[in-house]
Amino acid sequence: MNDLETLYRQLIMDHYKNPRNKGLKEEYETVHIKNPSCGDDISVQAYVENGVIKDVRHDGHGCSISMSSASVMSQLLKGKTVEEALGLIQDYYKMLKGEEPNEDLEDALAYQGVAKFPARYKCATIAWNAIEEAINKNK
Ligand code: ZN
Repeated sequence: MNDLETLYRQLIMDHYKNPRNKGLKEEYETVHIKNPSCGDDISVQAYVENGVIKDVRHDGHGCSISMSSASVMSQLLKGKTVEEALGLIQDYYKMLKGEEPNEDLEDALAYQGVAKFPARYKCATIAWNAIEEAINKNK
């Protein structure tokens, strides 16, 4: 394993053990998605005001890839405009399909190795599918 892969693995484990923006807020609308093939079960919320994503919340249970990527996603998209966020979401999906990643994905770059494991694609995208739906509902 090279240094970059080690760094990425550490970053994923850090977000798994210390998730950012975890816990739902009663006043926000929730999007809930399940991945039966892995047992991932996730709820995501986006609070959008004047075209800016002011808050992102998530909660759920599942594998380290799905749970950590929810944390990474929340950190990356919070504070972005709706337009920027929807662009980054598409860039993330493209990276997981093996395309050259957009450096603006920051910590989410850690998941580029998932492109080699198509079975984990759903795990790595479940939180992103949920936030995409939440943003589109709230924009
Ligand atoms: Zn999973």
